[in-house]
Amino acid sequence: MAEKHFKYVIIGGGVAAGYAAREFAKHGLNPGELAIISKEAVAPYERPALSKGYLFPQGAARLPGFHVCVGSGGERLLPEWYSENGIELILSTEIVKADLASKTLTSAAGATFTYDILIIATGSTVINLSDFGTPGANANNIFYLREIDDADKLVAAIETKKNGKVVIVGGGYIGLELSAVMKMNNFDVTMVYPEPWCMPRLFTSDIAAFYEGYYANNGVKIDKGTLVVGFDSDANGDVTSVKLKDGRVLEADIVVVGVGGRPLTKLFKAQVEEEKGGIKTDGFFQTSVPGVYAVGDVATFPMKLYNDIRRVEHVDHARKSAEQAVKAIKASEEGKVIDEYDYLPYFYSRSFDLSWQFYGDNVGETVMFGDNDPASAKPKFGSYWIKDGKLLGAFLEGGSPDENKTISKLARLQPQVTDLEQLAKEGLSFASKI
Ligand SMILES: Cc1cc2nc3c(=O)[nH]c(=O)nc-3n(C[C@H](O)[C@H](O)[C@H](O)COP(=O)(O)OP(=O)(O)OC[C@H]3O[C@@H](n4cnc5c(N)ncnc54)[C@H](O)[C@@H]3O)c2cc1C
Repeated sequence: MAEKHFKYVIIGGGVAAGYAAREFAKHGLNPGELAIISKEAVAPYERPALSKGYLFPQGAARLPGFHVCVGSGGERLLPEWYSENGIELILSTEIVKADLASKTLTSAAGATFTYDILIIATGSTVINLSDFGTPGANANNIFYLREIDDADKLVAAIETKKNGKVVIVGGGYIGLELSAVMKMNNFDVTMVYPEPWCMPRLFTSDIAAFYEGYYANNGVKIDKGTLVVGFDSDANGDVTSVKLKDGRVLEADIVVVGVGGRPLTKLFKAQVEEEKGGIKTDGFFQTSVPGVYAVGDVATFPMKLYNDIRRVEHVDHARKSAEQAVKAIKASEEGKVIDEYDYLPYFYSRSFDLSWQFYGDNVGETVMFGDNDPASAKPKFGSYWIKDGKLLGAFLEGGSPDENKTISKLARLQPQVTDLEQLAKEGLSFASKI
């Protein structure tokens, strides 16, 4: 098979790839200089839509509606945008071998691609219960959600198993968003997770108590503190029930599993330095191999604000790291220098009528403020994290765009806090003193 050469190649066609392409185009590209090689069959899109609007019973989001860069209020890059900008979008093509020494990539079909500069944007894959050998985990109608194909399979099952029973395994982002959207689709929904409360990596028990209460008020049953240990299926191989460690059995027509992800770094093992499960980069997203960059979920990068090295699996970082890498590549070609990446962590989620944002670092003591009664008509509350007398993290449910901006400013500025009780009383108005 013929070999194709590009000045720049991006492996992966997800969020980071799309934002990188836009940044390249901003700087000016010659036709044929840039290729995006993606396993998926569609042009880069805003992945968070898959667990939200894509599954809505009415007015569901569909492509081309949520191609990048609409998620951050930018221009929607339709498939033709890439050809109009001289960018080759090589879809339905999985790279199965990457040889960084010879700068050669090989696809599953045997095509080879060479490059001068490579951007690794392969993202993450889901952790599958079969990886743990959970009995029955290969039954039909047990779903995972990462790519649009996964979402399409779930949409088909929602249609065929109308008004049935769903068990959601996992109490993280996917678990919470999927439970809500399946309830909106009129399913009988039970969430199961082993932790004492949902989203334990970010939520305090107080924050979680609000969401668990709100979900319960909306008819979602929650079984926490127990593990799923197996599945039963019928003669067709369709899942019928979920077995819990405490001996109980939950009936299920559909199971959705959201137990975490794993960065896709396998292709580059032993070729690049790794750290904290990702590919180690500098503040410009260059890896230990010159001319090879890693962005988005796969990158472990210097988090300047906390003098730490971290990996972040969130869309905002995928977008910003991609832009930073391209800016750095273009600057180095012009003999210029840009500032190091200086990222303020930002996570968000939306479900039912709820919407929260978090900025900063969730370390230290916490104070809550506002109305966190799950039965309120319009709950609005927040939490601050304080360490060594400084406010480092801020969470807000139900905030307006301006209020969300305010908490992001607080997390960036890290103001001194002396009196936690006073801070709890002041809540959002604390920001007006800064
Ligand atoms: C359902 C869902 C909902 C989410 N919701 C939120 C949210 O609300 N807020 C938030 O902050 N974050 C959310 N995230 C996380 C966010 O989407 C990711 O952090 C972001 O997409 C990472 O971007 P990326 O470009 O690194 O990887 P991805 O967007 O995952 O893109 C990776 C791409 O690489 C391709 N690929 C992988 N290996 C190969 C290969 N060998 N050859 C060719 N192509 C390959 C994949 O097919 C994919 O197209 C969500 C994720 C999911 C799955």
